[in-house]
Amino acid sequence: MLRAAFPRRQNQRSGLQADLPFRLMQQCVAWQPHLIRQVCFREISSVTLDGPLRTASPALATPILQVQLQVDPITHSFTCRYRFTLPASDTTSVVRLNLNSHLKLQQVLAPRAGQPRITSVVPGYGNDTLHQIQVRYAPNPRRSRYIELVYTGKIGEGYYTDHVNFLSGHSEWLPYRPYQEYEVLPYKLTVQVPPGYQVRSTVRPSQQKAGRWTFQGTTSAIELTAFVAKQFYETVSAVSPPITLVKTGAPLARTDSVMLRQGEVITAFYNRTIGRQDPITRFTIFLPGTNRGAYGLLDDATIITYPDFDVAKTEDLLVLAHEISHKWWGYGSFHDETDWLNEAFATYSSLLYLQASGDEAGYQKELNRLAQTTTGTPPLWGFDRYKYEYPMHRRVIYNKGTGILHALRTRIGNAQFLQLLATSAARKTSTTTEFLQLVEQVAGPETSVWLLAELKR
Ligand SMILES: [Zn+2]
Repeated sequence: MLRAAFPRRQNQRSGLQADLPFRLMQQCVAWQPHLIRQVCFREISSVTLDGPLRTASPALATPILQVQLQVDPITHSFTCRYRFTLPASDTTSVVRLNLNSHLKLQQVLAPRAGQPRITSVVPGYGNDTLHQIQVRYAPNPRRSRYIELVYTGKIGEGYYTDHVNFLSGHSEWLPYRPYQEYEVLPYKLTVQVPPGYQVRSTVRPSQQKAGRWTFQGTTSAIELTAFVAKQFYETVSAVSPPITLVKTGAPLARTDSVMLRQGEVITAFYNRTIGRQDPITRFTIFLPGTNRGAYGLLDDATIITYPDFDVAKTEDLLVLAHEISHKWWGYGSFHDETDWLNEAFATYSSLLYLQASGDEAGYQKELNRLAQTTTGTPPLWGFDRYKYEYPMHRRVIYNKGTGILHALRTRIGNAQFLQLLATSAARKTSTTTEFLQLVEQVAGPETSVWLLAELKR
């Protein structure tokens, strides 16, 4: 999945910061009071501007991640041994890995390579610098190669409480190749914790010994997830697909049961509609009890940290539905206008659910609210987020994009629209051009031309 990494912005629930610099935005977002909670995994506020935006990787096979993580929950610190292995078929001769400079790099190992070069990279918008580890190989190595980094770090504020420490998609704890924060990679994550502590992740452990938990799966480079706590309160829905709720700090409450039920209903709705060609087979909702917003993870999970999150409120229901739908909408690039394939699609999916739940008035109201924010905004087509403050990104990519999807649905009708979305979801469409081609196939060339004009408006 081609999303990008880094200090992610976090929504908070009060305050109005219309023109804050990016650096501030990432700490205290909520630039419009009514846009409170639509946060998710893609909302990242910095980028490394040190290479071409879309470097096609010459790789033929996928690299593999092996991560050994040791967490000290008392001091909120961790040590990580990170191994990035290129398969023998991968002929890449230069590998770069970016690592947030708040992490202390202790060791770089790169057998069969020249001396690794470590530089500081200044990302856009005045964010923290990054370490960039560059490893150069002789051409055509024809052998599997690995780069191993050992580093230590502190778990950021907002990612721990008295009851839990966690590292996940927004924790900036993992390296990634520039602009490939969201490349989808197979991984093996081993987490070591002191006696008395347990670990949870987006998948069940494949191994579990005293103080040592191993998880295996496939997810984006920066979204490997480990929750560490002495006690987890958990429940799994009795329906299929199973929805798991994992909470720390307090036993499950009535609002949590209501959320679980809503999670079931939303998932079932999506599996009948946008996800019918690639349905959700399991889903996890993490409630760590911190207060840093909500975001979806590619690996069929979401982390929701609003302490008073209550899906009885439309606003919160839309957040839950938005994040769940990111299971399908996460393959556009975070760095350019194809982010609309993630965010507008997720926003509109949540609205489809709202409408299908019977709240036609809520659906219309939300569409109108979004439409009001798009007057005078630049076209979505070719939108360069780095030329604007974050709120404009929100207006164009989320809000305008949502309006365009609504117009498309109005034009082609519900059945064709759902067919389009379901096919796009199953194909993991990652560029607007691909989507336009799909529109042409499903709805005809005129609609494709019309859509392009809408995107350029
Ligand atoms: Zn989102």
